Amino acid sequence: MSAKKRIAVIPGDGIGKEVIPQAIKVIEAVGAAVDFTSFDWGADRYLADKVTVPPDGFATLARDFDAILVGAFGDPRVVSNIHAKEILLGMRTKMDLYANVRPVRLLDASLCPLKNIEPKDLDFVVIRENTEGVYGDLGGVFKQGTPDEVAIQEDINTRKGVERIIRYAFDYCASNKKLDGSPRKRVLMCDKSNAMTHAGGLWQRTFQAVAAEYKQIETQHMYVDALCMQMVRDPRSFDVIVTNNMFGDIITDLAAGLQGGLGMAASGNLRPGHASMFEPVHGSAPPIAGKNIANPFGAILTAAMMLSQLALDAEAEKIEAAVLEAVRQKKTTSDIGGALGTREAGDCIAKKVAS
Ligand code: ATP
Repeated sequence: MSAKKRIAVIPGDGIGKEVIPQAIKVIEAVGAAVDFTSFDWGADRYLADKVTVPPDGFATLARDFDAILVGAFGDPRVVSNIHAKEILLGMRTKMDLYANVRPVRLLDASLCPLKNIEPKDLDFVVIRENTEGVYGDLGGVFKQGTPDEVAIQEDINTRKGVERIIRYAFDYCASNKKLDGSPRKRVLMCDKSNAMTHAGGLWQRTFQAVAAEYKQIETQHMYVDALCMQMVRDPRSFDVIVTNNMFGDIITDLAAGLQGGLGMAASGNLRPGHASMFEPVHGSAPPIAGKNIANPFGAILTAAMMLSQLALDAEAEKIEAAVLEAVRQKKTTSDIGGALGTREAGDCIAKKVAS
């Protein structure tokens, strides 16, 4: 049996099809012991044969692969976005990838739109519940198209789902260090329990119960609106943030803005002990697709995150160091101030990690 890690690759749509080949090129250049298998799930496949996910698709991913590397889904030709929903949300929920982990790091002060923020000031992680909340598509529309139309969107919060994501955050805090080598110390739970009292109450009670098991870790709580303001006024204080599906979605785009924009942000959709899925935070970005201008660094940093999860730490560190060097040398795409195209930026990192 091969000792190589088996990676399923789903580039998807739009710029996903441009940035994922760069990530693969870099993984190959660094010499990581992996085998890739490509899947054509996405808008083109859906438009051709109306298949979003083949019948045994998720079972195949879970059974035959160690990790899944995904680009992005979304295409103006599929107005309903049904394929994106079935593939991406399907993977998260049917494979129970319950922890969405988004590290927020600043590689160079020039990338941050805030004044006086240095790389040492921005090093936190957002852990977002990935399978429940308001994205479960539960609800309905009544009297559609009439003046009496009613839309109901349910917010699902289970004790099991809330407890396991909060526990994941405490375990993450206990076992991960900051970039400067210092230990992580604090878990902040973000909610809106003053207005959403039923779900918020469950989150509050569960947070307190789990925190009691981790006495060495400090705890903090913020309402999501106050947290957004604090993230812009002074993001230095954040360490590990845990929150629900929707708030996590929103605050990680804000956080991506602090680290240089959507093109720089990486994420993992994790289920400990099982095949996990890794994707850049950005979407398919139709306005810039096909122009060789998308920033591939978010996808490349996502690849590094995946390798680290697969215990290929040396390769992951080499890739992260190469991206850092490229950013400092301004060998980047134009969204972060450079003059390279997507492919050329990928080539630059591949060359650095190969040497
Ligand atoms: P989704 O809802 O699928 O996450 P979105 O609506 O949040 O997608 P994106 O597709 O991520 O939006 O992109 C929004 C805009 O951000 C793009 O049109 C583009 O200007 C910019 N952007 C996103 N990703 C990148 C990238 N990798 N490189 C450069 N610009 C990007």
